[in-house]
Amino acid sequence: MLRRRRLAVMSTHTSPLARAGTTKAGGMNVYVADLSRHLVEMGWDVDVFTRRDRIDAPDVEELAPGARLFHVDAGPPLGLPPIETAGHVAEFTAGVEQIASGNEAYDLVHSHYWVAGLTGIELSRQWQVPHAVMFHTLGAVKEVFQQSESPFRIAGERRVIACADAIIGATSHERAFLIGQYQADASRVRVVPCGIDLETFHPAGAEESRYRVAAALPELGVGDGPGILFVGRLEQAKGADLLIQALSKIERQPCASLWIVGGDERDDDERARLWALADECGVGQRVKFVSAVDRQQLPDLYRAAAVCAVPSAYESFGLVAVEAMASGTPTVATRVGGLASTISHGKTGFLVGDREPEGFASAIGRLLGDDALRQRMGAAAAEEMNIFSWRSVARSILGVYEELLSERNIAGAARESCCPDPVESLLVAAS
Ligand code: UDP
Repeated sequence: MLRRRRLAVMSTHTSPLARAGTTKAGGMNVYVADLSRHLVEMGWDVDVFTRRDRIDAPDVEELAPGARLFHVDAGPPLGLPPIETAGHVAEFTAGVEQIASGNEAYDLVHSHYWVAGLTGIELSRQWQVPHAVMFHTLGAVKEVFQQSESPFRIAGERRVIACADAIIGATSHERAFLIGQYQADASRVRVVPCGIDLETFHPAGAEESRYRVAAALPELGVGDGPGILFVGRLEQAKGADLLIQALSKIERQPCASLWIVGGDERDDDERARLWALADECGVGQRVKFVSAVDRQQLPDLYRAAAVCAVPSAYESFGLVAVEAMASGTPTVATRVGGLASTISHGKTGFLVGDREPEGFASAIGRLLGDDALRQRMGAAAAEEMNIFSWRSVARSILGVYEELLSERNIAGAARESCCPDPVESLLVAAS
């Protein structure tokens, strides 16, 4: 019988079990958990390693049947900003090595985000196995949007990009960015989109969904009028404030409400700011807030809404838009990053070029005012999202792994030529 391949996954700065939609937990957490589950189903053994961020986290727990999650001691057992976890990379790497020394050898390392990538480089060298990395977000993207980013992060990303055997981007846009901004070797950059579970996210009776959402989340006021749904972390780049302004400018839809789903008690200040803005815009009664919900509740929420809106400054992929469309809900989003490739403008939703409330108000208003258009677009959206089925996405990821493993068999030793930046000294300074 063939031996099952063994994968070590690094997810240093955040756990795949953290609640998505709060502070730093979102698409990457969901991605790591879902990919692990599908790889197990496809015959791999998967061990995920994350930094212990709470004292009572068990040493190891089940992530999914056949996939384990190890909590590795590295730095204080508290939630830390991602950049601070970089200061504990050496400890984290040593911790993983110690745990791994008691396990059967791994065939490949897959790391997520640049902090994990630094550990991935080291383990790949020591274990003489290939290393694939995904960034999920890149520091230089922020700089394009005039937000400054830490030089530690950019240097760390450059290091990982120069050393990894494969860099997996979610869109051709990300690939171009990796090559253009980080001088990644084009032959090592692969594009594999993110996946979604079509068993979970698919169209089904919208009326039943509205009924269930009304019962489970009465604070949304489902039934008072059509809902415009925002799902995500309450951080400024996601643009909930822009939607509040847009709501006040949507013509002839006096009953429409904005449902803002995401965040937790750590976001009370941001929620208060949004409340105040809603009052200022005269729509205080029509903006409803709900803290981050379990993933099982999301399909009903998407279906219960008339429109989903994703007014982000940037999304490298944008899972929320794809989940909403797969659930049969047309989506209005900023024409940026992954959103520009997952939404077919005029067919599955609308892309808004200028990130201004007026553009969102007009696109959302158009959908709210035309039931037939909304239904047509919702059906087209669900159909188009079939390409993001986890089964085919996991198969593509396995294709990358198999390619790397056979390259190793032919070429032998690990890639030696890396280390373009003095990243260690930067990381010491960051710690
Ligand atoms: N999410 C969730 N519950 C919430 C809000 C968000 O499970 O209350 C999930 C959402 O379904 C999606 C992820 O968090 O899978 C957010 O991913 P996205 O790529 O849209 O944004 P990111 O957080 O990665 O910037």
